[in-house]
Amino acid sequence: MKGASLIAHDVRTGARRATDVLQDFLSRVEAHDGDVHAFNTVTAEQARAAAAAIDAAVDEGRDPGLLAGVPVAFKDNLCTRGVATTCSSRMLEGWQPPYDATVVQAMTAAGAVMIGKTNLDEFAMGSSTEHSAFGPTRNPYDLTRVPGGSSGGSAAAVAAGFAPLALGSDTGGSIRQPASLCGIVGIKPTYGRVSRYGLVAFASSFDQIGPFATDVADAALALGVISGHDPADSTSIPAAVPDYTSALDRGVEGLRVGIVSELAVASAEGQAARARSGGCHPAAGTSWGDGGNTPSGYDISAEAAWLRDGFDPEVVERLYGAADALAAAGATVDHVSVPAVAYGLTAYYLIAPAEASSNLARYDGTRYGLRVEGADVTEMNRLTRRAGFGDEVKARIMLGTFALSAGYYDAYYGKAQRVRMLTRRDFDAAYADFDVLLSPTSPCVAFRFGERADPMTMYRCDTCTIPSNLSGDPAMSVPFGTGAEGLPVGVQVMAPALGEETMLTVAAALERAAPPLSKPLLAGVAGSTGAQT
Ligand code: GLN
Repeated sequence: MKGASLIAHDVRTGARRATDVLQDFLSRVEAHDGDVHAFNTVTAEQARAAAAAIDAAVDEGRDPGLLAGVPVAFKDNLCTRGVATTCSSRMLEGWQPPYDATVVQAMTAAGAVMIGKTNLDEFAMGSSTEHSAFGPTRNPYDLTRVPGGSSGGSAAAVAAGFAPLALGSDTGGSIRQPASLCGIVGIKPTYGRVSRYGLVAFASSFDQIGPFATDVADAALALGVISGHDPADSTSIPAAVPDYTSALDRGVEGLRVGIVSELAVASAEGQAARARSGGCHPAAGTSWGDGGNTPSGYDISAEAAWLRDGFDPEVVERLYGAADALAAAGATVDHVSVPAVAYGLTAYYLIAPAEASSNLARYDGTRYGLRVEGADVTEMNRLTRRAGFGDEVKARIMLGTFALSAGYYDAYYGKAQRVRMLTRRDFDAAYADFDVLLSPTSPCVAFRFGERADPMTMYRCDTCTIPSNLSGDPAMSVPFGTGAEGLPVGVQVMAPALGEETMLTVAAALERAAPPLSKPLLAGVAGSTGAQT
């Protein structure tokens, strides 16, 4: 036991005081968050009161819960009663929600202590946290690089040892991709597994909340706490919540693991090297990732070539290392084609902005946050939206409005929805033969600030994560060694709807086999090795 699990165990048994635990983490935040900028708000005073209440409960012989005294950071698009919830946007600066999100309630009811609200790309639109109105978050492994996004603040907070647990939201990869770039674990649960009540909406048919942690056990523990039916979210699934932590030691013997061919593409040299090195590689004659007519009968050759150009060779190598490790542990590993993933980015970047253009219409200067006065209501609306939203958000609203407009709806939004159906169908076919699927989480390791300024280059970061948002299935990222310049690489484990247990079993096996990661650069902070004090 380590990390959050160990803290909760120690606090519950009286071996440690929640107030002391909190002070350790607050001291680290104070020493290093000036460099990292993981937090928009640190709620130190409130946290001290909450930790003292946990200690009092222990003193009185009451059990404070599964996460007793565990400091937790919440992405700043999760509503927290009386605490600023900004979405890293000028539009909501200073807004204080009158209620807690259901996940915030669940975490605090289990004894977790909110330590602060974390930075994000404005309204969760981005893959680097560079689009925050309050300045970027830096990657604890290399302060000249991004932590990923949009939940970059939550990922950096956990990687830097500012909190053993954090929550984020994942609409197109925003938990998994930053987890990968920061060398930690991040889970996007099945759509509907976790209530979104109190999550500020971005693209409602994709949005899902999930945990970040330094290891799979802590992530499973937190997932169990936030999962479950909530009458306040009409999309939430009324299914019982299993004990996710009991899935960790089941072992992968006999499990069928499919490497998604379209997302395991590498340069010709990479493929040749792989073939020479033995291990799990495509048998001669298979056409993994080389496009052509697919089993589903549609031609993805153009997209496959485009995908292939976007992957770091080291990232694909780590993926095959992970596949080898699972095979060695007794799983059956093979390639499987999920051709529609080649269209994922295109479909997502039509549907998500379309939904965002509707969801963000509520920021009109009348109800929340910012208002810029004008001569009449129309001018007030216009001036408020012009001043309140950043460029990326404005671009998404314009793209989404266009995709939904009469005359273009069928050609863009309608077509994207058909791709979504194809994705569902292709995943269903793959899961008929495989228990879980594997891919890289991110095509690249953490990149430098400004390096992906053009939107197409930025959007490519989401190639591997978006398909599971389109299907609604669960997926998670587990650290598996390093790529270029010693930076963390994550492997993505995907599972069919409500298949979180099998997904966690495989993730735990990967964690046991993973090459060690170096520590983040920041002196004295705990990294993915989980050495929380
Ligand atoms: N990078 C994606 C986007 O910009 C995903 C964001 C998210 O998951 N919130 O839309």
